[in-house]
Amino acid sequence: DAKKEIIKNSIRGVPNFPKPGILFWDVTTIMLNPKAFKYTIDLFVERYKDKQIDVVAGFEARGLIFGAPLALELGAAFVPLRKPGKLPGEKIFEEYKTEYSTDKIEMHLGSILPGQRVVLVDDLIATGGTLAAGINLVKKAGGVVVEAACVIELPFLKGREKIPDTPLFVLVEKE
Ligand code: IMP
Repeated sequence: DAKKEIIKNSIRGVPNFPKPGILFWDVTTIMLNPKAFKYTIDLFVERYKDKQIDVVAGFEARGLIFGAPLALELGAAFVPLRKPGKLPGEKIFEEYKTEYSTDKIEMHLGSILPGQRVVLVDDLIATGGTLAAGINLVKKAGGVVVEAACVIELPFLKGREKIPDTPLFVLVEKE
């Protein structure tokens, strides 16, 4: 619809970042356009407002930007899923393989309680490895994964296949 079109037109493609041959979808240009930013949050709020969400979990870095305002609007808690070494408290972690290396995300112990209903938020799903790790982390804490939400999906990378048990909600598809 019209809101999704405005969001889509606010995303910039940057060729050859972070390395040659990669087209990077840059969402910082969504935040430069207050209307596009608001519509993004509005569509997420619309999707989750009646789903009894207790916790929004957002991935560092850009999942924090979209996740926190969603949590506020829903009256839910916000939990950051962070890169190694950033969280000060006791934490649990999940490791996952990327194309060239092993990555790790961390979450504070006790920030998600058993039985709490959780939606995970990131800017973009590519291969799905990041979301799969986040889903495992939430489940480790005993949370109930309701859905994952991303602004952008790259369907040709088939990331959904890596999270077969979790519904995925996206606003924009890019090739
Ligand atoms: P995946 O684990 O392969 O699905 O990659 C998704 C993760 O990498 C997310 O945390 C994204 O923020 C990041 N990412 C991969 N490609 C892009 C892109 O083109 N634009 C913005 N973020 C990206």
